[in-house]
Amino acid sequence: MPNTIQLLPDHVANQIAAGEVVQRPASVVKELMENAIDAGATDIKLLIKDAGKNLVQVIDNGKGMNAYDAKLCFERHATSKIKNAQDLFNLHTKGFRGEALASIAAIAQVELKTKLEDEEVGTAIKIEGSSIGSQEVIACPKGTSIAVKNLFFNIPARRKFLKSDAIETRHIIDEFQRVALAHPQIAFSMHHNNNEVYHLTVSNLRKRVVAIFGSKMNEKLVPIDENTDILSLQGFVAKPNFAKKKRGEQFFFVNDRFIKNSYLNHAVSSAFEGLLEHGTYPSYFLYLTVPSDSIDINIHPTKTEIKFDNEKDLYAILRATVKHSLGQYNVAPVLDFNR
Ligand code: ADP
Ligand code: MG
Repeated sequence: MPNTIQLLPDHVANQIAAGEVVQRPASVVKELMENAIDAGATDIKLLIKDAGKNLVQVIDNGKGMNAYDAKLCFERHATSKIKNAQDLFNLHTKGFRGEALASIAAIAQVELKTKLEDEEVGTAIKIEGSSIGSQEVIACPKGTSIAVKNLFFNIPARRKFLKSDAIETRHIIDEFQRVALAHPQIAFSMHHNNNEVYHLTVSNLRKRVVAIFGSKMNEKLVPIDENTDILSLQGFVAKPNFAKKKRGEQFFFVNDRFIKNSYLNHAVSSAFEGLLEHGTYPSYFLYLTVPSDSIDINIHPTKTEIKFDNEKDLYAILRATVKHSLGQYNVAPVLDFNR
């Protein structure tokens, strides 16, 4: 029998890995914006064309890369953010897997421009199908611009399964809102087909929520603030009479990262027990800070699910704090809407 096993070439391995990281244009938005934050940017611009199907571009004023890093960042497992497995439990960056840019470069045409603050010139690189098409020395401002064009151009089956422009745009806006809400101290803007969608200036949490969801939100917000040995909890819940017919504005952040966790979401909704009309859902914007060694972020490629050491304690504190805050703001049970 001849040998039958062979190692897949890098570009094939990258295309396979890309399936996990990049489901749709919104995944590219998330990865690029997170990289900009990790680079210390204070101003992040998102440009979209055709619901991200033809262009997703993120321009930041972060620290930029030198010519060597600019090339290396597209390699798989290339990261400046961790050095060993131990670092996974002491993370202070959004990224750490070193997979995003390699994945994106495997399934789109990518144009990178980047410059360090104290260098005269920057680097421009074009990539198509994982391989470097050109590299040039250019004049450009400090920071990084990454343009991702024609997503899935080389995987027609994936491109075909993208949803309508309206749906893909909704996903992009969701990601944009999550990142912008997690970082009120950073300025963000978003343009779609050259129309401005968001222009968010540096602000605080309350103002950021209002800037995104409209001025009516301001009067609805009940502040949440609690600090214990195992957590610090800040943010807002909306008063129960403003609850929505569909589960929409529910944002839960852990150490500045948007996460999905139905158990902890339940802790919040259970604090509203008896206050909500049947079939309505409370809005909330909650920011949990816990020690980085008490969570495991490396359980899902998109990092929107995390594992907590002490989920039960968090549940109890979360529920009690939200309940207490609602009580303080005179929204304790007055009417039983459920009857
Ligand atoms: P990760 O974020 O997990 O490290 P990525 O593939 O997203 O992996 O990025 C690879 C590396 O490229 C990063 O670790 C970082 O050093 C560099 N990089 C990516 N985007 C930027 C950016 N906007 N500004 C500066 N450096 C960047
Ligand atoms: Mg990254």
